Amino acid sequence: MTSVLAPGLYIVATPIGNLGDLSPRAAAVLAGAAVVAAEDTRVTGGLLRHIGVKRPMIAYHDHNADRVRPGLIARMAGEAVALVSDAGTPLISDPGYKLVREARAAGHEVVTIPGPCAAIAALTLAGLPTDRFLFVGFLPGKAGARDVAIAEVAGIRATLVLYESGPRLATTLAALAAGLGDRAAAVTREITKKFEEAVTGTLATLAARYAEAAPRGEIVVVVAPPGEAIPASDADADAALVEALTRLPASKAASEIARRLNLDRRELYARALAMKG
Ligand code: SAM
Repeated sequence: MTSVLAPGLYIVATPIGNLGDLSPRAAAVLAGAAVVAAEDTRVTGGLLRHIGVKRPMIAYHDHNADRVRPGLIARMAGEAVALVSDAGTPLISDPGYKLVREARAAGHEVVTIPGPCAAIAALTLAGLPTDRFLFVGFLPGKAGARDVAIAEVAGIRATLVLYESGPRLATTLAALAAGLGDRAAAVTREITKKFEEAVTGTLATLAARYAEAAPRGEIVVVVAPPGEAIPASDADADAALVEALTRLPASKAASEIARRLNLDRRELYARALAMKG
């Protein structure tokens, strides 16, 4: 079957867990492409079945990319080639940038169909500054190289976004705390899936939490920029209020602690009244 799309390369983002996140445009491009270059054709086969589409697929992954790329580039002269990864946005910790570069160099159209990306989704859940962020991808597995990579980003005034796996999470969080200082952070997990969660705390408290039990599923760690104030915990706020109430009436105690810990005065006042009552 000939492609119904103009010839060229189409970079197609796919869901990171919830199939409902496949955009109508992404589905249309997958249905109209002459061939789908996929990291794992079994995974993409499942997605194509889900949308009721049957297209020829070619495996394109780290181990065969150099061999397969020239053939894909040649086909783009007359056909629409779609590139997908197993999940999310191709090229983001996934293969594809050389395909884009060479497709353009060969004079072919390169079109993007944007959509889900775990790094961006994690930033929306973390509640940390988003005006400047650095995507770090996966840190190296070996401790020496990992610590060098952490030292390289320690001075950068930006929120850091890292991909990680459950078994390595606690060690990575402890290494980040040692290399960056005990910054505020969020561990986001299973985004868009049934057990999606975002757990916030400091790097050290999160490291201690996950050292007890490695979490399951897919993980993105988001770390605050240097100098970002670490939000006081409820326990810190209660301890400060108890002390202030020994010297001050409830309203003044609430004002003082709100100012000192940068918390909501009305909530602290209600808490102080409850403590007194
Ligand atoms: N290209 C993908 C994207 O756009 O996010 C990322 C591919 S990378 C090989 C896979 C990593 O992304 C996982 O190990 C995990 O760190 C992160 N990831 C992917 N899906 C996720 C999800 N639903 N929740 C949390 N992290 C996810």
